[in-house]
Amino acid sequence: MTAKPAPIARFDGAAVWSKLGPAQRATIGIIALELVIANKTACTTDRSEPIRHRAAAAAGALLVGELDRAVSDAVAGKADFSCDPVPSLVGDICQKCGCTELDACEGGCSWLSPGRCSACAGRHTGRARQARALP
Ligand SMILES: [Zn+2]
Ligand SMILES: [Zn+2]
Repeated sequence: MTAKPAPIARFDGAAVWSKLGPAQRATIGIIALELVIANKTACTTDRSEPIRHRAAAAAGALLVGELDRAVSDAVAGKADFSCDPVPSLVGDICQKCGCTELDACEGGCSWLSPGRCSACAGRHTGRARQARALP
């Protein structure tokens, strides 16, 4: 007999963001803005402009590390990370199979109740769920 797995813990980014100071928010925000722009430029210049692409890709690689460092420093002590939480913006998660709004079960599924999808109850819907917009 195997033990029932612990419920999937969640990371509430909005709650942690509300605990950050202005300097931490500015650091994270600036890096996030520059990272998205670097990735957009790297994508749009992939073959057409190899010199611009190279510089943008380097910026993206740097900024991923900078964002990880800034966020890790900012959230330290502000949430429990020992349980490997999953970000809340992904929406509901089936506690049995791990499917989400963005990753429905093969054959389609829907929510029977919070944390429980229809595929895990043997009822496939035949269609994937629609991805929801972020708040
Ligand atoms: Zn499921
Ligand atoms: Zn499912």
